Amino acid sequence: MSIEDGRSIDTATDAGRIVADAIQDAATRAARYAREVAERRVFPTPDVVAALDQLDGPMPAHGSAASDVLRRLDEVASPATVACTAGRYFGFVIGGAVPAAAAASVLNAAWDQNAAMRATSPAAVRLEEIALGWARDLLGLPHEARGALVTCTTVANVAALAAARHALLARHGWDVEARGLFGAPDIPVIVGDEVHVSVRKALAVIGFGRDRMITVPTDAQGRMRVDALPRLTGPAIVCIQAGNVNTGSFDPADAICRVVHDAGGWVHVDGAFGLWAASAPQRAHLTQGIALADSWATDGHKWLNVPYDCGFVFVREPEPLFRAMRMHAEYLQTDQAWEPLHWTPDSSRRARGVEVWAALKSLGRGGVADLIERTCRHATRFAQRLREAGYEILNEVVLNQVLVSFGSDARTKAVIAAVQEDGTCWCGGTVWHGRQAMRISVSSWATTARDVEISADAIIRLASQAPA
Ligand SMILES: *Cc1c(COP(=O)(O)O)cnc(C)c1O
Repeated sequence: MSIEDGRSIDTATDAGRIVADAIQDAATRAARYAREVAERRVFPTPDVVAALDQLDGPMPAHGSAASDVLRRLDEVASPATVACTAGRYFGFVIGGAVPAAAAASVLNAAWDQNAAMRATSPAAVRLEEIALGWARDLLGLPHEARGALVTCTTVANVAALAAARHALLARHGWDVEARGLFGAPDIPVIVGDEVHVSVRKALAVIGFGRDRMITVPTDAQGRMRVDALPRLTGPAIVCIQAGNVNTGSFDPADAICRVVHDAGGWVHVDGAFGLWAASAPQRAHLTQGIALADSWATDGHKWLNVPYDCGFVFVREPEPLFRAMRMHAEYLQTDQAWEPLHWTPDSSRRARGVEVWAALKSLGRGGVADLIERTCRHATRFAQRLREAGYEILNEVVLNQVLVSFGSDARTKAVIAAVQEDGTCWCGGTVWHGRQAMRISVSSWATTARDVEISADAIIRLASQAPA
């Protein structure tokens, strides 16, 4: 009986052998991809992208062997991937994957654990718990803080803000999980006008509204102005930022936390990438006061360089997050102290702790600090090269983000398009305080000093060729 196509299976031994063969095949292909990815264009050409249509067609009536499926994927989809695991991808804020974490994800695929609770996977839950503790300490968060892994910072923002909602409404005697928001006391929400869209989305999801919040003006680097905070007369939720997505700047956490806490409020930190600055001694001063906040959202898949998808939510007081996220059912009898499904929006979930544990174990404290500091230095070098070539750097390069203008908006747009088309490296565009800019984000462990020089050479060459 044919079992290669997954149609039928006779014995567990056969299943194991077939999966083993398929994983071996995948590992061989994955290894070749990893070896060759640095030699490729960073972004695929349009014809390679168009060829993805070959994977379409009517839903297959009959199955195919795993090896054929894999060959097809590798031949058609691998060339159409973006080379963000190599060293010359500087778009958005996208890291690569450190070797131990990338490899652990292969093992993790074979394990296929459901990390909902200890009853579904003791290994996954324990690894997550250990990894969370290590990350909490690296990020300089209070020892009592608890949290969980989620898919991304957007969902971490949802979870943290749901905890804030619970805590502040509970003070009014309102059980929001039981009664919902209709008729609930008003809770002011305050953000900087540079708030990341993911916080707006999170506020919409939890019923606080995308546009209902009070917006505080920011300074030239996008930092919230403490002097412009509205006078707080009662508990409010204030969302601050550690690492502006354009400039890399930090809101003044120290001063904001003091003012908000004096009024009985809750400070939430969106620290998708910037929070990791706390782990590098030379950058840690940027995060001063962040540990005074009440909740934090950050990513693993950005600066820590673990594979997608991976975000972290942490809260100072465990109770509100637990109250907001717990699940009740007789068959979910979980009397252990920490079971992930009671702490996240998910129940069944990927065992992200495996890769986080592997990344932190392989890097160590020194390795994480070096990764953060090195990428920041690369950003500084980019800024230096571009400035020397006569182009304007629009931000203070305090972290891993560089904003550069090549003159008029039209000219800057033309340079961005030329850089993306050239394929040596990849940078995105943004608008900063009304001006078109190219954004360089150095977030990958794999970026070398040579990658920076090669990329700066290409950008400067293309910019010099752009029409005035
Ligand atoms: C990337 C980013 C987010 C969203 O992170 P996801 O992992 O994409 O959900 C939120 N805030 C900031 C500042 C970011 O840079």
